[in-house]
Amino acid sequence: METINTCSICKNDIDIQTNPKTGIEIWAEGHNAEPVNSGRCCSDCNLSVVIPARLSLAGKKLKNTNITIEEDDSEAWEAQLMLEKQRTAIPNATFKTHNDTNIEVNGTCLQGHVNAYYPDLFEKFGAPKTHGDGYKTDAEWDLEFEDGTVGTIYNWKNGFNYCGTAGTSVEYITEWNVGGRTTKIVDKIRTVLSKELRK
Ligand SMILES: [Zn+2]
Repeated sequence: METINTCSICKNDIDIQTNPKTGIEIWAEGHNAEPVNSGRCCSDCNLSVVIPARLSLAGKKLKNTNITIEEDDSEAWEAQLMLEKQRTAIPNATFKTHNDTNIEVNGTCLQGHVNAYYPDLFEKFGAPKTHGDGYKTDAEWDLEFEDGTVGTIYNWKNGFNYCGTAGTSVEYITEWNVGGRTTKIVDKIRTVLSKELRK
């Protein structure tokens, strides 16, 4: 058993990441918390605080062309790349997410599943509502299409919230529940996910 480290942001224990196939503990040191601070942080804070901070920093750097990213600042470059991908992901956006507006998802329920990698969902839809319901869900995206169709993408009972340390980190989850009011939403979301990111 590796030592438990403390998250420099929320001061809770840093979650121990395990190999999703074998369940063997592989990493107890969490994530680099820069630019929030120079320490380490837990997966929750990485998703909810650190990544958004990097994206916003990269956004500022992009807007102000007088500021150049240092050549060896790999995290800033990575954040900039992510931001550019996000901007160009869906050329004529036909939907909004919870990051754009408040989406009313009351009354939606499970309509099907999609297979997707977390980074792809992040690129297409931006940051998830990171804590989900804090119980059966760890990450959730809410979407509203032009025609008013509402949908949600979320993990269910397989993450840290429900399973504790035996759960799968959202980065390794590949099958996601799709919620909505009709099954049409599943195809709509599959279509969005199948569009290649514009280079
Ligand atoms: Zn934390």
